[in-house]
Amino acid sequence: MSDEGTGRRERGLVVAVDGPSGSGKSSVSREVARRLGLRYLDTGAMYRAVCWSVLACGLDTGAGEAAQDAVAAHTVALGLEISTDPDDALVAVRHQDRWVEVTDEIREHRISAAVSAVATNLGVRAELRRRQRELIDAARADGRGMVAEGRDITTVVAPDADVRLLLTATEATRLARRAREVHGEASAETVAALRDVVVRRDADDATVSSFHTAADGVLELDSSGLTFEQTVQAVLSVCGNVSVG
Ligand code: C5P
Repeated sequence: MSDEGTGRRERGLVVAVDGPSGSGKSSVSREVARRLGLRYLDTGAMYRAVCWSVLACGLDTGAGEAAQDAVAAHTVALGLEISTDPDDALVAVRHQDRWVEVTDEIREHRISAAVSAVATNLGVRAELRRRQRELIDAARADGRGMVAEGRDITTVVAPDADVRLLLTATEATRLARRAREVHGEASAETVAALRDVVVRRDADDATVSSFHTAADGVLELDSSGLTFEQTVQAVLSVCGNVSVG
């Protein structure tokens, strides 16, 4: 049936958002998904969940070929569930023959500090990209649509998305935002404490994904001078200007 007159889409809208750490992409993407009634996929949470499992199993996250192959094989075999409801951030992995909810633990500093070593493993990336495409395709096909965010969504995972955005912010803004999120304030000390997990992590991540400059056809939105609500409105207005075939 055609969607004309019903106000419903046959294919769900797919919005791809990339950006560095602290650009606000997770909170903005989640809020945009809520307001548009779309599903929401936090691909960073998937890398964090794999990292949690790799550490829980005591695997070596080093750069040696055998270690890299073992982590990639572990990822291919890993049971991983992630909610795509923007109001439910649930993430669970199979561990020692049972499901373990890791929603909160994957946000711990030890995971933020170790995740890039897992996310720069090309075997891990191939497997998670395959799973991410499946989730995005399902949301597109069932008409619900999805906002998917990460580091390589606009370029590699969903270059065919209806809306492709790179959310940026100056380094000082990103550090201050993370400091407020994690420590409740952005003093010189809290900003310095976060430099490793923001600046170093982005530098490591940038060796396998390009998320500092917008690729062809990707719209860049600098949120440095914008409030959260202004950033959400800017994304909503871009989404309002596309039609889904
Ligand atoms: O977005 P978040 O900070 O939670 O992402 C955690 C980590 O997951 C990033 O530092 C990066 O190593 C990895 N990641 C990635 N590709 C994505 C999303 C996240 O490599 N699409």
